Amino acid sequence: MSDRLDQLRSGLSTVEERIATACADAGRERAEVSLIVVTKTWPASDVRLLADLGVTDVAENKQQELTAKHEELAGLPLTWHFVGQLQSNKAGAVAAVADVVHSVDRVKLLGPMDRRGRPIDVLLQVSLDPPGGQHRAGAALGELPALAAAVLATDHLTLRGLMAVAPLGEDPAAAFARLAEIRAGFLETCPSATWLSAGMSGDLEHAVRAGATHVRVGSAVLGSRPPVQ
Ligand SMILES: *Cc1c(COP(=O)(O)O)cnc(C)c1O
Repeated sequence: MSDRLDQLRSGLSTVEERIATACADAGRERAEVSLIVVTKTWPASDVRLLADLGVTDVAENKQQELTAKHEELAGLPLTWHFVGQLQSNKAGAVAAVADVVHSVDRVKLLGPMDRRGRPIDVLLQVSLDPPGGQHRAGAALGELPALAAAVLATDHLTLRGLMAVAPLGEDPAAAFARLAEIRAGFLETCPSATWLSAGMSGDLEHAVRAGATHVRVGSAVLGSRPPVQ
């Protein structure tokens, strides 16, 4: 267990240094970028160690795992983020415990989330896949205005900004440059939605250069995930 604490401490310090260097290289303040540690597949005991090490923000990508860890770790001073593909039949359960949901890509998710009556920060996930390409999660660019308006019309959800994942097989610098343009356009109509969630273990430097305010880092802190069964 104490070995694990040392591993996590060392992973965190490596990632911290990468973020600090990326900020310096991009002429940005370190304080402009928040680290969210993606703890999916790792046990709640790891999340507890991370909290001991000063981590304040953790993320999960599956509703059941989020719900279970949140319950097991009730009372820890953590902000819980949800970053996974969201099904509308799970949206209410996610909204029961998540503080921030990064992966809103359909209007249909908002009703079940809002009905929980909890204040939740919402990011719209935008797809960076080329039109007509193999479509992973995320709304198309043209869907953002209606999606933003629908969030603004809710009682409990606050529109904070955009989230994206660099497409597989594309240079992340190019993908995140496109994201920076999308965000600039988005900010013209939603000037208070300033968060940009982008960057993972493999590409966080590119994301910071493109203006990310939140990086979501898993394996660089916790190690390679065991293969999904
Ligand atoms: C797993 C995951 C991450 C973290 O990925 P790593 O490569 O382990 O840093 C970030 N964002 C999302 C949406 C994820 O599912």
